[in-house]
Amino acid sequence: MVINPDGRLKADRLLLAHEFTHAAMSTLGGGAPTWLVEGYAMYVEQRLAEQSGYDEDVADWRDELMSEAIPKLTVLPIDGVFHGEYDEESYGVSWIIVEHLVTKYGLAKLNALYVDLARGDDGPVVREQVLRKHLKISEAALVAAVKK
Ligand SMILES: [Zn+2]
Repeated sequence: MVINPDGRLKADRLLLAHEFTHAAMSTLGGGAPTWLVEGYAMYVEQRLAEQSGYDEDVADWRDELMSEAIPKLTVLPIDGVFHGEYDEESYGVSWIIVEHLVTKYGLAKLNALYVDLARGDDGPVVREQVLRKHLKISEAALVAAVKK
């Protein structure tokens, strides 16, 4: 991993935690959908923020996402809709989805899901199969569960 010295002073430890998460997970393969790749890195970043005294900011952002962006969620934010449909909230929406998975299924199950998705093809059929294998639910059911 290379950090541009010009950007180092602007890159705080939360951003570095996010980027190092990508570096660590990238060895698993490139098949994981964008919502999981970014949501996982956001989950690590927000956990570190909570442990660093920013827990109120994290809670405020979660509340904002749950009242504004999450009710508008219709599909999991994959490549084509990651930036467009959810604008700058794509990262936050993906974080909420991953946090839901950790809360409901646990980190070990999420990691197993990530491993399987990362080594497969990033296509709708594979994603649906892997989700059903690990979580026993469809993508549509996951969207509905996150919105509850
Ligand atoms: Zn990222």
